[in-house]
Amino acid sequence: MSKTKPRTLITGAAGFLGSHLCDRFIAEGHEVIAMDNLITGDMRNIDHLMDSPAFTFVNHDISQRIAIDGPLDYILHFASPASPIDYLKIPIQTMKVGSLGTHNCLGLALAKGARILVASTSEVYGDPEVHPQTESYWGNVNPVGPRGVYDEAKRFQEALTMAYHRYHDVETRIIRIFNTYGPRMRLNDGRVLPAFIGQALRGEDLTIFGDGSQTRSFCYVDDLVEGILRLLMSDCSDPVNIGNPDEISIKDFAEEIIALTGTNQQVIYQDLPVDDPTQRQPDISKARALLDWEPKVNRHDGLAITYAAFKALPEEILYKQEHRDFKAYIK
Ligand code: UDP
Repeated sequence: MSKTKPRTLITGAAGFLGSHLCDRFIAEGHEVIAMDNLITGDMRNIDHLMDSPAFTFVNHDISQRIAIDGPLDYILHFASPASPIDYLKIPIQTMKVGSLGTHNCLGLALAKGARILVASTSEVYGDPEVHPQTESYWGNVNPVGPRGVYDEAKRFQEALTMAYHRYHDVETRIIRIFNTYGPRMRLNDGRVLPAFIGQALRGEDLTIFGDGSQTRSFCYVDDLVEGILRLLMSDCSDPVNIGNPDEISIKDFAEEIIALTGTNQQVIYQDLPVDDPTQRQPDISKARALLDWEPKVNRHDGLAITYAAFKALPEEILYKQEHRDFKAYIK
């Protein structure tokens, strides 16, 4: 028999990605300490785990000092607002969790001798001039634009993580996550996939921002989680892109959603948000070579699963315009 279960702290555990990580790490035999201040997370994402003896939930804002009793083997740092609408509404909290929150997580990793994986993002590449994006590209970010609060917090996060690795020898991993989708995305967080599916289900027109020629590459959440696990268990401390290289324009994506939902919606065109990246596609050569990882779920299958999950939502959630009172969560 092996020793006791590995103990793993997951920050942002009640969010879309965090909750899927809780499921996977419990299935992998870890004891999971799930932390979230619920500013953008939702307890419904982890309700099903609350009775598990391997799962503990702690309501805490990690921008404040983090205290954990006992040993810790791994930290997965996934706490952050992650949709453009959220970080426009709570820009200072976004910067604090990416900077102070990351500092607290790294300090905890140092104190406990834990390995830490931090969630970075394709946003570190900004509106990229190199296509597809390789990890060696340094990016094209506007620090003072509306997205700067997220992009620069994540760039700072990467720099701080490398500093802890180089100066303190902390075992660090950095994943650059490209657009990811799946069940449990917040319906009204403004991101394109829940926006389009929600609009189709409510019988509304699909809102395309700009002329819809901008591209994204969408990765199904189970593929991402597999990539996270492989990166964590690897010995690679440099950033690694994880995403699905299957690129599509937003206009074509809207047509796919209309075909998927079997609705007869029209598309309407609205203003393109400031600094909205014109193209985005991960180069995943490094993940393929180092982690023997590549996505397995194609968009057709992933969208069908995601659509079924959204369709099963109760009507009061589907029709609720979720204007969160973020101020209630800010201490
Ligand atoms: N978008 C859109 N309609 C919407 C929401 C988003 O056309 O209702 C566009 C947005 O301008 C961007 C793309 O879809 O070009 C992806 O946006 P999202 O907010 O999902 O994530 P991003 O990749 O920009 O962080």
